[in-house]
Formats: sequence, structure tokens, C-alpha cells
Amino acid sequence: MNKRLAAAIQRDNEREEAGMHCDDCQTCWIHQSWAADCADNPVHTEPSVRHYPRPA
Ligand SMILES: [Zn+2]
Repeated sequence: MNKRLAAAIQRDNEREEAGMHCDDCQTCWIHQSWAADCADNPVHTEPSVRHYPRPA
């Protein structure tokens, strides 16, 4: 993971804690990647697993 991605994930985490909906996230906390890079992953396209619990 590069520093820019790590910083973006951290920022999204902080914004989410402040109430931002994750649909607005630039990063993916499941894959620890840019959201655009895994948008086609079944985790994101399958409604049944879309709201998989966030790990602590
Ligand atoms: Zn993802």
C-alpha cells in the first residue's frame, strides 16, 4: 500500500466516524484499496454481502 492510499484510507475512516456515508468514500476498507479499483468485486456488487460488518 502506498502512502497516498494509506492517507486516503485514514481520511475516509475519520470522515466516516464523523457521519459520512461510505458511498462517498474514495477508498475501500474491505480491500484496503481505492474504491474504484475494486468496484466490480462481488463484495460490492452482491447486495447480500454489501453491508458486511466492518472489522474492529
Ligand atoms: Zn473493495
